[in-house]
Amino acid sequence: MADADLVILGGGSGGYACALRAAELGMSVILIDKDKLGGTCLHRGCIPTKALLHAAEVADTARESEQFGVNATLHGIDIVKVNEYRDGVVGRLYKGLQGLVKSRNVTFVEGAGRLVGPRTVEVDGQQYTGTNVVLATGSYARSLPGLDIGGRIMTSDQALTLDFIPQRVIVLGGGVIGVEFASVWKSFGADVTIVEGLPHLVPNEDEAVSKQLERAFRKRGINYSLGIRFASATQDDAGVHVTLEDGKTLDADLLLVAVGRGPNASGMGFEEQGVAMERGWVLVDERLRTNVDGVFAVGDITPGLQLAHRGFQHGIFVAEEIAGLRPMVVPDINIPKVTYCEPEVASVGLTEAQARAEHGDAIATYEYNLGGNGKSQILGTAGFVKLVQIKDGPVVGIHMVGSRMGEQIGEAQLIVNWEAHPEDVAVLIHAHPTQNEALGEAHLALAGKPLHAHA
Ligand SMILES: Cc1cc2nc3c(=O)[nH]c(=O)nc-3n(C[C@H](O)[C@H](O)[C@H](O)COP(=O)(O)OP(=O)(O)OC[C@H]3O[C@@H](n4cnc5c(N)ncnc54)[C@H](O)[C@@H]3O)c2cc1C
Repeated sequence: MADADLVILGGGSGGYACALRAAELGMSVILIDKDKLGGTCLHRGCIPTKALLHAAEVADTARESEQFGVNATLHGIDIVKVNEYRDGVVGRLYKGLQGLVKSRNVTFVEGAGRLVGPRTVEVDGQQYTGTNVVLATGSYARSLPGLDIGGRIMTSDQALTLDFIPQRVIVLGGGVIGVEFASVWKSFGADVTIVEGLPHLVPNEDEAVSKQLERAFRKRGINYSLGIRFASATQDDAGVHVTLEDGKTLDADLLLVAVGRGPNASGMGFEEQGVAMERGWVLVDERLRTNVDGVFAVGDITPGLQLAHRGFQHGIFVAEEIAGLRPMVVPDINIPKVTYCEPEVASVGLTEAQARAEHGDAIATYEYNLGGNGKSQILGTAGFVKLVQIKDGPVVGIHMVGSRMGEQIGEAQLIVNWEAHPEDVAVLIHAHPTQNEALGEAHLALAGKPLHAHA
């Protein structure tokens, strides 16, 4: 006899979204988490880092104010107060989320859970059986073999607890988390060097975007080493000392290890219950079912993009699937992605290289330079909107870079997911003067009728 319609292990973005939607659909739900409701995103990920990035933007605005004729002076960063502001934001959202879960009558169980039967989770000796079970235990910050986390060598988890600003910092990894921390620390006055083994920063993005970000970082004085891999690191009282594979050495106060996140799915009974896994990831089909009947998995423990909104969508999807609503599958490639460094990077759909690999020469691209966009000029930012289109067909990729361009991802993801042709977007109106106009202009140009751009 089941204790609930749904038992969910893990109360992060994936787990709690599933709980809220299932409750909305009339299911009884038990949600289990060993830590705080809200998971990585709320407590150690998206929200605290974006609060730091906003404080960084305020610092840059003060520092650069003269350029706008405003004579403000940046007296310094009070990191304790910055952290208080950040914790205030997290605290308010946490309270709101707790209220939401309570108001939907979701039973929240605090404690470490283990799958002890195909649909039974045990927490502190108490068993909870669901008609269906959802695994949502998230991910952890990885390191490299031989690179131990501790002292001056840290991951984002420890970096978020710092109550000082390092003078010199090395960031190992030029992906999303690495460039966001690099951006914050630079704005707060640190000397920052990023070490990325691949040839570009944000290497999963369209190459043109990576190159533009590299130009912008160079201009900001953020150092980076590309295409040479990390070899080793040591630490002592004086600092941390990093050696690269070409023999070059770098010294700093801190080393941030931002080399990716691994699935947090081992040691919790999944294997014992026969859940199919590969290199630690829980395998699911496109409807997020594991191979065990009635057991689903959502969010970062499944292979693919590690993003909070993917977790939300997975959670909602599973609740609706169980309720028999046959929700629509959104492929990972059409999930919007934003990197919130300065300048921001935002993209959805195929990069030019991916589109060429799939469609050969049957694609068209267009890059609209933000130099022609009034609002971007007002803000003083450089960058572009790049479109990738199947010739005479839909737009299959949108790639943007520039201050605040992350805010434009909403329309971009509708265009790609609704398989809009440039002509469909070109007839619609984009308010002036906004950065959103840059999206409109890019589509006007690709539809053969550029306005503020050369043909
Ligand atoms: C520094 C950083 C910045 C990020 N910024 C962004 C961003 O800006 N935008 C974005 O979309 N994504 C961002 N992410 C990624 C995002 O946080 C994750 O994709 C998202 O949190 C994944 O949700 P999840 O539910 O799969 O896992 P999690 O949020 O990790 O939740 C898993 C939960 O399971 C619980 N748990 C684990 N094991 C057990 C157990 N045995 N028993 C009980 N409970 C257990 C954990 O305590 C945790 O609460 C960021 C991540 C980091 C680290």
